[in-house]
Amino acid sequence: MTEVILLGTSAALGDGSREPTSLALRGRETTIVVDCGANPLRQLQRLGIPLASLERVILTHSHPDHTSGFPLLVEMLWLAGRRHPLPVHGPADALDVARRAFAQWDTSLWQGLFELDWRPVALDQGVPVVRTAEFDITAAPGVHSVPVIGLRVRAVPDGGTLAYSADGEPSDGVRYLAQGVDLLVHEATGDFPSHSSAEAAAQLAREAGARRLVLVHLAPQIDDLAARQAAARAIFGGDVLLGEDLARYTF
Ligand SMILES: [Zn+2]
Repeated sequence: MTEVILLGTSAALGDGSREPTSLALRGRETTIVVDCGANPLRQLQRLGIPLASLERVILTHSHPDHTSGFPLLVEMLWLAGRRHPLPVHGPADALDVARRAFAQWDTSLWQGLFELDWRPVALDQGVPVVRTAEFDITAAPGVHSVPVIGLRVRAVPDGGTLAYSADGEPSDGVRYLAQGVDLLVHEATGDFPSHSSAEAAAQLAREAGARRLVLVHLAPQIDDLAARQAAARAIFGGDVLLGEDLARYTF
């Protein structure tokens, strides 16, 4: 069974009820965390998912609500006993931010601190990110105020597919990634520059032929979420779910 877990579903400024948007891809053996604006490992602990299962991290873009928890993630993994390298994938810009953030601390006394294995992802449509025994992940650039990648994830054991928009307005890149997927996780911050409304996410999901749509990166300024969800359903012609922290979906 392969699932996506919503570790957080909030826009950068939430109302305190949600963590910043972050996902975990969970296979039988391994876990991949996508973005860490707060403390994704704490969320995994709440669910009883072993920290030792964390195989790698993907950062979709450099904004603080997607990267600022990275230094704490490294510290927690080290304290939990990790000693083998941690692959970190993402646009060069995002990796540079994470690298510089972590460099603010003197870690010279952290015995056995594992290596950070930086793996830049080119901003090209369909570029491979990684293929493991459980996940086959490709990326494409989205349209945001900084370089961003969306993801397409294929569950290797049974072929289920997921796409994640990360932050951004509706884009050709995300539409490409979402072609025929079983589940599209799309941001729905609202009608703001460099972001998407629920209705625009639904339109993209329809065009791509996605089977299910889950909305994340939800902003408290949108005070009529239920109405926006209903409008999105009418456009999509299928089920549209509002993401909730710690919700899990198989794909
Ligand atoms: Zn952003």
